[in-house]
Amino acid sequence: MKTDKTDILALLRNSGDYVSGQQLCDRFGVTRTAVWKVINQLKEEGYEIESVSGRGYRLAEEPGDILSESEIVSRLHTKWAGRKVYYHDETGSTNNDAKRCGEEGDPHGTVVVADIQNAGKGRRGRGWQTLSGTALAFTILLRPEFAPDRASMLTLVMALSVAEAVEEVLTDAEEAVTTIKWPNDIVLNKKKICGMLTEMTMTPEMDEIQYVVVGAGVNVNNAVPEEFQEEIRKTATSLKIETGRHISRAGLLEKVLLRFEDNYAVFLETLDMSRLREAYERHLQGIGGEVRVLDPAGEYTGISHGIDDKGELIVERENGEKVLVYAGEVSVRGLYGYV
Ligand code: ATP
Repeated sequence: MKTDKTDILALLRNSGDYVSGQQLCDRFGVTRTAVWKVINQLKEEGYEIESVSGRGYRLAEEPGDILSESEIVSRLHTKWAGRKVYYHDETGSTNNDAKRCGEEGDPHGTVVVADIQNAGKGRRGRGWQTLSGTALAFTILLRPEFAPDRASMLTLVMALSVAEAVEEVLTDAEEAVTTIKWPNDIVLNKKKICGMLTEMTMTPEMDEIQYVVVGAGVNVNNAVPEEFQEEIRKTATSLKIETGRHISRAGLLEKVLLRFEDNYAVFLETLDMSRLREAYERHLQGIGGEVRVLDPAGEYTGISHGIDDKGELIVERENGEKVLVYAGEVSVRGLYGYV
């Protein structure tokens, strides 16, 4: 029944016009009653479906922000990213779920999505807060065939993809500025809307990548800053806070996966950031300006000169020495604030 629902939803969405009950029956080989049941289910989930006798059914309006497996799958036009989707109303961490998928043989491109993550993870064991009905939390499972030393760049490929997708969602009139805080935080109007975590698992022989999971949490429909916990209220924001609009999380995911598929293909051509560097640097926060590098071995400041082909941040220290900052252990800040 689930597949019928997704297929019927996709057909109604793609047609944009009335589709007769008979067409739906013929197309999916189901009875009139089955079609009617699915239509009612969709209405209960919040879809506005007009039914006119003699013409059939029509999706009257795109729903506001429904997040479900059918909503996600019925939107996807990707080649491989998200061809298999697991959706959870609530989970611990979509990265952990995707790692399980990695162990259990799910294919390259499998995506796990959750409405609530109650143990979302950031880098270095830090937490990631997600509230029900507001966040897009997803993780993609990748099975790359390249050497493990290339994998850390995947996080930059995803950062670029999310930044581009967010830009597609924004209208010119909103005048919102989307940037990437190296290596992978997405910042809207100088506040963080998205954090990412990439984790790699090696084969038992430790000589090849078994799989990589790239997870992201995007603040989409938080209405007011007070919804964030006190300690991040000054640095966090959401798409809704910045635009005043309720935004479809499934629609945003669709855009992210399309961008990721394209960017991943470009990355594979050279197995480094050389061909994505220009696009990445167009979004990079603070390029040419002073940054503070929070290195566990000691904090320092310098001028950011963008990234090299491996995705490392090039920072010119006060003594003129250029250092390459590797993403693993380090956070970067603006000189006087978050960016
Ligand atoms: P940063 O430089 O922003 O401190 P990071 O890149 O070093 O972050 P991440 O793993 O990306 O680390 O993010 C974890 C941090 O993000 C948390 O320690 C917290 O400060 C912040 N954070 C947690 N949840 C959210 C959220 N929903 N929105 C914005 N920021 C959040």
